[in-house]
Amino acid sequence: MDTNTPLESLDDWEDDLLKRYPEPNKKQKEDYRNYTDSPRDALVRNFYKINHQFQTYDFVVAKQEEFLELKKQKMSVWEALDYLNTLVDDSDPDIELDQLQHLLQTAEAIRQDGHPDWFVLTGLLHDLGKVLCLYGEPQWAVVGDTYPVGCQFSDKIVYPEFFTENTDYSDERYNTKFGVYSKHCGLDQVKMSWGHDEYLYHVMKDYLPKPSLYIIRYHSFYAQHREGAYSHLMNEEDHKNFEWVKKFNPYDLYSKIPVPPDAKALKPYYEKLIAKYLPNKLAF
Ligand code: FE
Ligand code: FE
Repeated sequence: MDTNTPLESLDDWEDDLLKRYPEPNKKQKEDYRNYTDSPRDALVRNFYKINHQFQTYDFVVAKQEEFLELKKQKMSVWEALDYLNTLVDDSDPDIELDQLQHLLQTAEAIRQDGHPDWFVLTGLLHDLGKVLCLYGEPQWAVVGDTYPVGCQFSDKIVYPEFFTENTDYSDERYNTKFGVYSKHCGLDQVKMSWGHDEYLYHVMKDYLPKPSLYIIRYHSFYAQHREGAYSHLMNEEDHKNFEWVKKFNPYDLYSKIPVPPDAKALKPYYEKLIAKYLPNKLAF
């Protein structure tokens, strides 16, 4: 078993999310109905088994040290989008949409609903942190639901039973309700399992409005934005900004349409929007 690439495609995780959180009032796709039936379910299960085992407090500290100095490379947003797009994956017949298309579709769906321009831009940017995969990082340290480390793992996290294999599970410093944190200390104090969200937050943190940064940083934190499992660590500012994280989530999950957006036609609009908020080159 290859522990670095348990999934055939990074999108297997997103497709699994659609089963856990189907679009309200929409019938689930026929072949998504049986949770344990498809071969992909076994892959996703195995993905979380590895993720839950290895995302320890020490692992997160080490990855933060490795990546958050942002010394990898300097790229414009469009260069990063092109770079990410080399992650195309043709092993999965169900997935015609590549990463750029997912980002454009998310942004376009937000734009069509008349939201503020920074929200549209957030749609375009939110998964750029997946370039971690191109640096050779294992899938389970790039995608998947995120959750706090350094305190008790909630049973509201997907596949909670797999945390028994995590060394923090039996470590008294980390396995109590608050662990190394304190009541309502604020999520900024809390280390999240390592992945594309936290990484991109650090790339963007000097440039975007607060709600945008919350979306980027916590959009995979389903145990909170869908399940409310970690309110005891959050402060008022967190709660206020999570309203935007919640508003964003349906665009992330339900904006996939079979017609690919015309990237070339949309590029001038997005170039202008990017230039309004971000410098020409960003440190990744
Ligand atoms: Fe994401
Ligand atoms: Fe996404």
